[in-house]
Formats: sequence, structure tokens, C-alpha cells
Amino acid sequence: MSYEAGQYEVIVVGAGHAGCEAALAAARMGCETLLLTINLDMVAFMPCNPSIGGPAKGHVVREIDALGGEMGRNIDKTFIQMRMLNTGKGPAVHALRAQADKFSYQHTMKKTIEETDHLTLRQGMAEELIVEEGKITGIITKTGAIYRAKAVIITTGTYLRGKIIMGELMYESGPNNQQPSIRLSASLKEHGFDLVRFKTGTPPRVHKDTIDFSKTEIQPGDEKPKFFSHETVSSDNEQLPCWLTYTSEKTHQIINDNLHRAPMFSGAIEGTGPRYCPSIEDKIVRFADKPKHQIFLEPEGKHTSEYYVQGLSTSMPEDVQLGILRSIPGLENVEMMRNGYAIEYDAVKPTQLWPSLETKVVDGLFTAGQINGTSGYEEAAGQGIIAGINAARKVQGKEAVIIERSQGYIGVMIDDLVTKGTNDPYRLLTSRAEYRLLLRHDNADLRLTPIGYEIGLISEERYQSFLKKKELVAEELERLRTTKIRPEAAEAILAAANSAPINFTVDALTLLRRPEITYSMLETIAPSDLPLTEEMKEQAEIQIKYAGYIEKQLLQVERLNKMEKKKIPDDIEYAEVHGLASEAKQKLASIRPLSIGQASRIAGVTPADISILIVYLEHYNRVTASRG
Ligand SMILES: Cc1cc2nc3c(=O)[nH]c(=O)nc-3n(C[C@H](O)[C@H](O)[C@H](O)COP(=O)(O)OP(=O)(O)OC[C@H]3O[C@@H](n4cnc5c(N)ncnc54)[C@H](O)[C@@H]3O)c2cc1C
Repeated sequence: MSYEAGQYEVIVVGAGHAGCEAALAAARMGCETLLLTINLDMVAFMPCNPSIGGPAKGHVVREIDALGGEMGRNIDKTFIQMRMLNTGKGPAVHALRAQADKFSYQHTMKKTIEETDHLTLRQGMAEELIVEEGKITGIITKTGAIYRAKAVIITTGTYLRGKIIMGELMYESGPNNQQPSIRLSASLKEHGFDLVRFKTGTPPRVHKDTIDFSKTEIQPGDEKPKFFSHETVSSDNEQLPCWLTYTSEKTHQIINDNLHRAPMFSGAIEGTGPRYCPSIEDKIVRFADKPKHQIFLEPEGKHTSEYYVQGLSTSMPEDVQLGILRSIPGLENVEMMRNGYAIEYDAVKPTQLWPSLETKVVDGLFTAGQINGTSGYEEAAGQGIIAGINAARKVQGKEAVIIERSQGYIGVMIDDLVTKGTNDPYRLLTSRAEYRLLLRHDNADLRLTPIGYEIGLISEERYQSFLKKKELVAEELERLRTTKIRPEAAEAILAAANSAPINFTVDALTLLRRPEITYSMLETIAPSDLPLTEEMKEQAEIQIKYAGYIEKQLLQVERLNKMEKKKIPDDIEYAEVHGLASEAKQKLASIRPLSIGQASRIAGVTPADISILIVYLEHYNRVTASRG
């Protein structure tokens, strides 16, 4: 028996990493928002690795924070280890990675949600979409509650028709034996969505007291940790180390001897798994020549003895898993607390979405996170904030916010998904970004905070401190440009850095351009009296050292933007465009790109097709203009 349970402006289904960001964004933009989720004790739960960040993923967390999202603040409050990776390489790949206390991460996020105005958190299972004349108007829950809203965001992760697989055992379930979401999958299909079957996997968890750490290598955090949020200035979080060990010959033997019992290879698993996050059995088969694989032992939190065995994701039978674990140095006597497993789930084909993450199939319905074919907390949260922003702007009758490929990894990810689609769980990598020198950890605020402020997610106070930082960095660059350094003043630091001496006075900026000269060296002879933070000094140094490369990429962006600005009217009939290849006609008609730039990235659309389309559009626009 169903009943009217409430009217909202925005409903978010699922309080995972995407749902939390989406709901907070919509509520903070003033929309009455309902966040409905199967189990309130699983808000922002990390079913897999207890970590946030790393290459490209860490960049996304910075971007979410720069836009006014929550993930960065939440992990800065709950990290148990923080490391800046790739510091030996260029700033484009510097990436922050944190180990999270996954239980306090959840509790902290849930508390933030409970304390946010305009946001209602409710336990319940959405089972049906209510669609009237192609528009979403609400959802119905398992208990018959009808919730109405002008916009609905589905962020159901790995729960849609979830099925856990472990050896010969298979059963319907969400992660960690949570209830799966069966009927909503059927409702999506009924309303015209194409679904795909994906899978992912997780490793066993073991008991800390049964690990022999003396046989592993310690992996400590950074002494002076950096942070994800632009608001975090310091932390007294106690850091815990991780530990490195390796698979052994015996490990590989056990796996090879039991491949016939591996669901991965017995055909029991129907879903497609993540290419860049393979299971251990997959690695042993695919990289048979590799004698050993790295295994990281990661604490899951301060108040638990559970350790996550990173690198050992598996769906092997339980007895084999135990054998595998005890074949690894340091784990010979280990107690397994939780089995590893694989989970299959339904996802929507992301080419059914606009770059705003609104679906093309049902007006006012948005999807975000793993349901869009991605894998990873950060990828999910990056989509979540965009879906939340755009659901709110839809309700408020405002234009959607689209992050361009040149503005952020969030833009790269969403454009890849909606333009190219994905055949396996999509994971963000720095190599996916053609402008990665512009999309750095250190400049996320310069790229996105003005947008966050304009849409009302960044407070006036934070925006003013951002403008102050920008101003101070500009002043410092000017100071370095005008500060004269005489040869004798620079002699010592140049000699210490094995850098060629100077024979005449130069400006400080010229010296800093030298790769071997750092800002902190220069500071000893030309200190600044501006109130600069370490982050501002780093910003100035990067802008000087990479000026040439940055300029080149900015020119490329300018060229791209010309293509992005060539908008394609949404009523164009591709079948009528003479000269277009039939594959291009079919692909363009199904993706319906918003610009020539997006059209040029669709697989199967050639440069020749693009030139024909540009000529056609010029004629189309002339005719339309003449008709007035
Ligand atoms: C076993 C496993 C292994 C993984 N391994 C990796 C990995 O190795 N690397 C990696 O990057 N990522 C991995 N992930 C993925 C990672 O967990 C997800 O990418 C991330 O959690 C996705 O976030 P999300 O918000 O889209 O969905 P989730 O975090 O899954 O959250 C979905 C939320 O929706 C709720 N929900 C679902 N259906 C309904 C409904 N009908 N009504 C109401 N609420 C509903 C659920 O209760 C849950 O709270 C793994 C996930 C699992 C389960």
C-alpha cells in the first residue's frame, strides 16, 4: 500500500561517495533535498581500499574541494596517513594520497550531512521511478513511500542487482552483505535505459596481531603532511604506517594450481572487471613472467585490528584465499577476518547522459558514481558534486555547469564517459588528461573556486581568502621579476647547486627558472616580506619553472575552445547531412554532442566528418539567421 511521504526539490538515492556530494551540493545551494539510502550505518562507506587519492584521484579530490564539496575536508579530518606521491617528478603528477580511518570517515560525513540545512537523511530502499510524460516526478520505496521531486539523482554504486561471487559460492547481495537493489534496476530498464554488467573485487582483511611485520618494509607517512582541502592549515592526526611485502613463488603456485576453481576463469563471472585494478589471479595469469607482485598491508582504522591486503583482490574460494595469504612473507600465521570477493552489478551506459549528468532518457533524472561505469570513491564523488549542482540549477531554472577538459579531471572524466562511453569500469589516470600540466594538485582553486563561488557553494569569506592568495602570488611573481641579484650575492647558492655562476646582475626570476635552483635557495639571498604560505611559494615557483610548457598548453586549449564554442543545435538531423559517413551519422545521432569539439572526440567520427559537419552548420546557421 503506497502513500505520499513528502515533497522535495531534489531527491538523491544512495548515500555513497557520489550521493553524499550530490546531496550536500543541492542542499547548500538552497534546495530542499532528501538523501535516501538503504542503511544509515553505511553512509560514505569504503567497501574497498581504505584510502583516498593518488594520481588523478587526488587531483579530483582537490577539485571537489575547490568547488565547495566535502570529500577533501572529510579526509583531512579522518586520515591516518598522508603522503605526497611522485615528488621526484614534475608537479603535474604530484598526487596526494591518504589512508583513511574508514569508520571515522563514515561517521564524520554522516554528521556533516545530519547538520546541513535543507537536507533530510532517511533510511529506505528506492524501488521505482515515477516518470510522467518523459519527466521524473518522484520515486517509490520498498515500504510504499512516495517521495516527489522535480529532480532525482541515482547514485546506487555497486548495489544494482548486486551479486557476490567467491569461488563456487554466488548470492544476491550488495557489498559487505548489504541488501542488493534489485527492483530499481528493473525500473531503469522499463524507462528505457541500456544497462551493462560490470564487476569489481576486493581483497581479504586480516588480523593485525597475526602479521609478522618484521618480514615487511615499513611505509610511513610524510612528516609534514599536505592536505586535500584548501581550508585545512594544520592537523594533529596521529599517523600509522603501512607495510610492504610481496607474493612468493608459493603464492603463484597455489593460484596456478587452483585456476580451475577461479570464477574469473570458470565463466562464473559475467560482468566486466576493471582493467587497471586486476585481481591477483588475473595478474598471475596476465603477467606470468613477473616473479612477484607488491602487497601493501594497510590499517583500516585506529580502533580496529583489521588490515586491508592491497594488491590481493580475489574471488577465489575461501580455502584457497587462506592458502594464498599464508604463502606471503609476514602472513604465514595470519588470521583472515573477512574474505575477498568479487561483486557484479548493473550500470547505465554513460553515453545516455548529457555532460551535466542529466539523463537523455528521462528529463530531470541524473545519475552519478559507479552507476555511470566508473570505479573509485574519488571518481564517484567528482560526478556526485556535478550532478548535485546541476540538479539544483535545473530546479532553479539556471544553466547547467559543465567542467571543460581544460578545467579539471572532473571534466576529462565526464566528457570521456558521455562522449566515448566505457567497456569496463572507468578509472581516472593522469594519462587520460591531454592538458595535465594545467590540471595540477596545486592550482585546483585557481581553476574552479570562481565557479564554486558563483554557484553559491564557496562562502564569501573563503572566496576573499582565495583572492588574497591569488593577489599575493601575483605580487611575489612581480617582486621576483624586479628583484636584482648581483653575481657575488648569488655565488654561494649557485655553487652549492652546481649551477653556472652569473657574470652580471640578473632578476631573481631568471635564476629561479634554472631547474637546479629552488625557491627556498633563492629565499636565502632575496627573502620576500610578503605574508606568503608554503603553498603560495610553491605556486610561484611552479608558475615560473613551467611557464613555457604552461603557455604551450594554454595555446592548445585556446584552439580546442574554438571547437568547443562551435555549438551544435539540438534539433539537427544528422541523417540529412550529406557526405557524412553512415557510422558517423549513427554515432552522432545517438550521442547528440553539444559542440564540434565533443563531436570530434566520438569514436568513429573522422576529421573528414567534422569538416563536413562544420560546413553544414555554417549553412544551417545562415539559413536560420535569414529566417530570423
Ligand atoms: C567489492 C568492491 C571492491 C571495490 N574495489 C575497488 C577498487 O579496487 N578500486 C576502486 O577504485 N574502487 C573499488 N570499488 C569501488 C568503490 O567502492 C566505488 O567506486 C565507490 O564506492 C562508488 O561510490 P558510489 O557513491 O557510486 O557508490 P557506493 O559507494 O557503492 O554507494 C551506493 C549507495 O547507494 C545505496 N543504495 C543502493 N541502492 C539503493 C536503493 N535502491 N535505494 C536507496 N539506497 C540505495 C547504498 O546503500 C550505498 O550507500 C570497489 C567496490 C566494491 C563493492
